[in-house]
Amino acid sequence: MHFRKFKANNIFTGKEFLGAEMVLITDNEGLIIDITNTKDAGDNIENFDGILTPGFINAHCHLELSHMKNIVPPGTGLVQFVQQVMTKRSASDEEKLDAMQKAEQELYQTGTVAVGDICNTADSISTKQKSNIYWHNFVEVSGFVDAMAGKRLEDAKSILEKFQKTNSKKQKSTLSPHAPYSVSKTLFQQLNNETIDQLITIHNQECGAEEELYKNKTGGFLELYKNFGIDISGFQPTGKSSLQSFLPYFTNKQSIISVHNTFTKADDINFMNTKEQELFFCVCINANKYIEQTIPPFNLLRSGGHAIVIGTDSYASNRQLNIVEEIKTIQKETNIPLQEILTWATSNGAKALRITNNFGSFEKGKKPGVVLIDNVSGSLTTDGSTARRII
Ligand SMILES: [Zn+2]
Repeated sequence: MHFRKFKANNIFTGKEFLGAEMVLITDNEGLIIDITNTKDAGDNIENFDGILTPGFINAHCHLELSHMKNIVPPGTGLVQFVQQVMTKRSASDEEKLDAMQKAEQELYQTGTVAVGDICNTADSISTKQKSNIYWHNFVEVSGFVDAMAGKRLEDAKSILEKFQKTNSKKQKSTLSPHAPYSVSKTLFQQLNNETIDQLITIHNQECGAEEELYKNKTGGFLELYKNFGIDISGFQPTGKSSLQSFLPYFTNKQSIISVHNTFTKADDINFMNTKEQELFFCVCINANKYIEQTIPPFNLLRSGGHAIVIGTDSYASNRQLNIVEEIKTIQKETNIPLQEILTWATSNGAKALRITNNFGSFEKGKKPGVVLIDNVSGSLTTDGSTARRII
């Protein structure tokens, strides 16, 4: 067997830093063999300037929107953003495929090894079949008119079937609700029955208007429904936040990746702590800055005891699909230690996507990818930090 031996200014295991004196040993394919002291590692050690980390897990992306770079301008707010994505997402098949392939390459080269990816169409199947990344496809279900719930579920299930035909060790697919403002009561109930014991995701509390809708049936979304001719006369406000309104629908041991959480409040965290569901908070800081010019309440999210994970969202609301750029922005905007943020990006992400058997940490027998973050200053990323895949 041929070994590779890696040493750097620091090694991050997926949970902790080991310092500069340890050597990571893998086989030629990147299977983790051992982590050992330099004096026991023998010769042919490859030295790197920076931090070595397991490959990143991008817990929220929309590969199929990769052609939408620079289409929606920054700072519109979510309601405008959603309307623009809905009306401007069409493009030629060739254009879409080309953009998805480039995005997949970018994800791979910048150290992402697994992606939780939202799918409204089957467009991304061929790109994913050729990909060396692990994909969890969340086939998205939406429909705010209650009478249409059955039809909307059937449509999504036919897309799910197409993805499931390509299932392999590198792909898994489940249904997921789009967002509290786009899924009706009956559709939530049906989804609960379709996703027993499964991993699902939902866009949650991405803007203040979501709260206004659920509390008082007021706010920006009413305009959106009007513009699209969506009859919301059947919608009853719950008087509660959107999170507290939708979470009780899921009673079948689902684990849930709640994405964005930009407007999540302390009483939501308290509410969640009364529930038994396994919940992950996914933060997409660059997308939040792009759309809403705001950032998630990190300290509040950290206080709840639920694991945090990181996503890029799509090219419609981000300038790159590069986890290290998310990490850099989080470090710049907060004083959260790099060790904690890297845990979100690696072992927490693997736990959320249910792939800890192979990903998220440098443990013997796993093949998590080896990624170098360079231009670091101690345990701080700098503007110049980049990430690249070593193996
Ligand atoms: Zn999204």
